[in-house]
Amino acid sequence: MDIRRRPPKRPRPTAVNGGTHSHQHRRNEKASTSSSSSSSSSSSGGGPKASDALPLPLYLTNAVFFTLFFSVAYYLLHRWRDKIRTSTPLHVVNLSELAAIVTLIASFIYLLGFFGIDFVQSFISRASHYDDDIEEEDDVLFDSRCCPPPAKSKFADADPDPALCSEEDEDIIQAVVNGAVLPYSLESKLGDCKRAAAIRREWLQRTTGRSLQGLPLEGFDYDSILGQCCESPVGYVQIPVGIAGPLLLDGFEYMVPMATTEGCLVASMNRGCKAIRLSGGADSQVYRDGMTRAPVVKFGSAVRACELFYYLENRVNFDTLAVVFNRSSRFARLQSIFPSLSGMTLHIRFNCSTGDAMGMNMFSKGVQNVLDYLQNDFPDMEVIGISGNFCSDKKAAAVNWILGRGKSVVCESVIKEEVVKEVLKTSVSKLVQLHLNKNFVGSAVAGSVGGYNAHASNIVSAIFIATGQDPAQNVESSHCLTNIVSINDGRDIHASVTMPCIEVGTVGGGTQLASQSACLNMLGVKGASQGSPGSNSRRLATIIAGSVLAGELSLLSATAAGDVVKSHMKYNRSSKDISNAAS
Ligand code: ADP
Repeated sequence: MDIRRRPPKRPRPTAVNGGTHSHQHRRNEKASTSSSSSSSSSSSGGGPKASDALPLPLYLTNAVFFTLFFSVAYYLLHRWRDKIRTSTPLHVVNLSELAAIVTLIASFIYLLGFFGIDFVQSFISRASHYDDDIEEEDDVLFDSRCCPPPAKSKFADADPDPALCSEEDEDIIQAVVNGAVLPYSLESKLGDCKRAAAIRREWLQRTTGRSLQGLPLEGFDYDSILGQCCESPVGYVQIPVGIAGPLLLDGFEYMVPMATTEGCLVASMNRGCKAIRLSGGADSQVYRDGMTRAPVVKFGSAVRACELFYYLENRVNFDTLAVVFNRSSRFARLQSIFPSLSGMTLHIRFNCSTGDAMGMNMFSKGVQNVLDYLQNDFPDMEVIGISGNFCSDKKAAAVNWILGRGKSVVCESVIKEEVVKEVLKTSVSKLVQLHLNKNFVGSAVAGSVGGYNAHASNIVSAIFIATGQDPAQNVESSHCLTNIVSINDGRDIHASVTMPCIEVGTVGGGTQLASQSACLNMLGVKGASQGSPGSNSRRLATIIAGSVLAGELSLLSATAAGDVVKSHMKYNRSSKDISNAAS
């Protein structure tokens, strides 16, 4: 049922934020009025319109009047020319000329009415819209200063949502629009996640006057994200997943899924994989595995803060705290505590293994256990925050670069001279020269932290998104030192990537969603590893490092050979007319 074709219902009066809701409703009415005057599909909510009385559809009526107007104008101009030639007075008209003049005037009035009124209306409605926003500055749900209204509501042209079809749905939408039901409470109120998303989406489109057409609703399991991945869903974004490989790593071949919208990236990594494969493969090691969390606590004096510092440095106390910490989960195992003093405050960096989970949740529970325990011996300790940025989560920081966070991985491969020439299309000397001047000198000039690489972040982000990792942790997970040196008397190269902070999991978070889980499955690292907890997530970290090595080899070679612009023009720019796509 097209819910927008029903006669509009008056909003229920409501005590909650009454001004805001009635204001919203007025805006909705305006949106539907302005769109109805200009659109043939303007059945969006308003009352009966003049166009409803037309015997033909609006576009046909317009076509008829346009044709009439121009054909009689042409006819009359012809007649006028003939009269001038034959010196006939212009005001002497025969019956057909009279009919033509009447038709011309009638069609002119129609066209003026149709387009002129719409033109004037657009000015009036825009002016009154802004007036309302200035009057009611407290309206936080829809503030035109941060989200300007569209000149013409695209929502008026959108297809009705097939997911919503009952009277009851319409009543709920109205209740959300009126503020009687809060949009984020729909899941708990309805007990149906898909319906909640559909109703929230409809509410959003009505209140903003903007269409979500193109953002799909169907084809997603909204139950799977409830309480875990995303609040207030209204649909999902589609990102293409490309496949690169096989990546020959530690004797196994992996086909690597990459979710990206950057043309050239998958193709480039594919080439790097080929170079590694033809050279006998790559080898990797996880040389450190520990997630970190660092609360910040405060005392009345620096001396007192020092006492906690000494306490935490004592190995005997560490063993006790580890027992307290490890109670949080079967998988969380405290490895070290690194306190950092600054005046009266102490930042305490806990480091623990988290099995196959990236593990921030289980970690936070463990840290809370320890803080509660410490409060017994240090009752004057004030916990300022469970995370005090010495962790350091989702930010570029030297502490991660030096001490590591998540999985610290190194991956290497010897690439033979002929492969450098035939697959990577460059020479050993050019590649090494470019690498030194770009990854080391250039990054030093730029004052980089962790950025001694060509484009590690490209590969890390694409695999993170495909496999359900937290994309925000791409910041430190992409820290990478790429090194390329010539060996065997300058004939071959030894290429390596050292990545101290790959923060990944194969359980928890977004990894359990259907698409992401399928990508993990493709890599053979889906879920919790049966034998030794943590081996799946460590394997995923090595695959990411191997993929980064492939990506580095390919991009650096293309840069050394001067091919970057050429290949980006080929893969990154479609032949589609972008100006048309944007309109
Ligand atoms: P994250 O913070 O990465 O989302 P959580 O700590 O919230 O991870 O979730 C991990 C959950 O998965 C915990 O409940 C944990 O008990 C469970 N789990 C099951 N198997 C494993 C495993 N092999 N490694 C880690 N966690 C596991």
